[in-house]
Amino acid sequence: MYLNSLIESDRRHLIHPVSAYRAHEARGATVLASAQGMYVTDQSGHELLDAFAGLWCVNVGYGQESIVSAAAEQMRRLPYATGYFSFASEPTIRLAERLADLSPEGLTRVYFTLGGSDAVDSAIRFIVHYFNATGRPAKKQMIALDKGYHGSSSTGAGLTGLPAFHRQFDLPRAWQHHIPAPYAYRSEVGADDAALIAQSVAQLRAKVEELGAENVAAFFAEPVQGSAGVLVPPRGWLKAMRDTCRELDILFVADEVITGFGRTGPLFACESEGVSPDLMTMAKGLTAGYAPMGAVLMSEAIYAGIADGPDNHLPIGHGFTYSGHPVSAAVGLEVLSLYLEGGILANGQERGGQLQAGLAGLLDHPLVGNVRSAGMLAGIELVCDKAAKTRFAGEIDISGKLSAAAYARGLIFRAFADGTIGLAPALSCSEADMGHLLERLRATLDDVL
Ligand code: PMP
Repeated sequence: MYLNSLIESDRRHLIHPVSAYRAHEARGATVLASAQGMYVTDQSGHELLDAFAGLWCVNVGYGQESIVSAAAEQMRRLPYATGYFSFASEPTIRLAERLADLSPEGLTRVYFTLGGSDAVDSAIRFIVHYFNATGRPAKKQMIALDKGYHGSSSTGAGLTGLPAFHRQFDLPRAWQHHIPAPYAYRSEVGADDAALIAQSVAQLRAKVEELGAENVAAFFAEPVQGSAGVLVPPRGWLKAMRDTCRELDILFVADEVITGFGRTGPLFACESEGVSPDLMTMAKGLTAGYAPMGAVLMSEAIYAGIADGPDNHLPIGHGFTYSGHPVSAAVGLEVLSLYLEGGILANGQERGGQLQAGLAGLLDHPLVGNVRSAGMLAGIELVCDKAAKTRFAGEIDISGKLSAAAYARGLIFRAFADGTIGLAPALSCSEADMGHLLERLRATLDDVL
């Protein structure tokens, strides 16, 4: 009875991000009530193994009491301190120090935001400011990847290369440009790593040449393209793109909102190729879903270019009431200590191996066309004809079918519209729970066959 009234109220009042309005009302919400470890329970008492860590963020699992205590203690002591006008709070300073210490070499300066979209927006602002301050104001054009996702705010969404995020809006798009994403399974150069890398480098060079290097500010890329359906570029791709940016005198921005904090194995995905970006955006795993927070990190050279520029006596016209929120920062510090001192990062590296071995066993399934993975991040692309790699046609709601079958099997994953399944389980997952995840996944695939 109570559940019915909740669902009814949801239908009447709550607008859900990234849901079709009336279709959502007709279907009704799955109201989540509580969670512990890898499992969430909905209002009807149904328990679900969360193989997607919420929205690729709850990397340390649910119910971590030490995070709850850190947040409560900070709320009691000092719930809020603005970062404006030279005010600060201890957890915010300590978190900035720790991030500068742990992130790829050279990233020394930290600007806190509320999440990933405004981290991308802020990175764009800093880049424009940097080139203005260093006497190259024409350098404003930004290049990103087709299928890349860089957030939902107007500027970040402008860089997003997924048409669904542009369709209903006239976003400002004068300065954003896209080059194809490396996508081995559907690329005409096939799964040849060297050819794929050479192709991307050539595409970036051609785009910069077309726009004029003197006009191009930066290239943005996710080290693994999450929202594109987990497209994992070949090993060496990141380094080659970074080196090309340096050669072409454009900045390289790594958007590690999904890949950061152990998702692909190392603390940051850039580390796996020894890449130091000029700027890096992060969110999600930074606070692991227990509080909202994001950040932009930048190199000392970029910071100095801005800070020593001609209008450096003016305050930066950019900030948020909740920038560097002390409670989120206290959560972030505790989350970092769980990854590092608490062994969750190392556990994730081990479970990543188990996940990959399990997924390799799915390749013989009649629906599975392609499996891609990096650590605890995976995409399983389903096809209706394996030889022809044919995607499910639009009239079959494959993602709806998959989600419903997974729910019945007690599993949550991301079902992309094209029939790709996204997996991003918490790095704290136990060996037994990874086993359950893989069993439920196969059962779900059998159910939709
Ligand atoms: N960049 C990337 C790579 C992302 O995956 C996301 C979120 N999925 C964002 C930016 C935006 O982050 P948020 O939703 O926290 O604003």
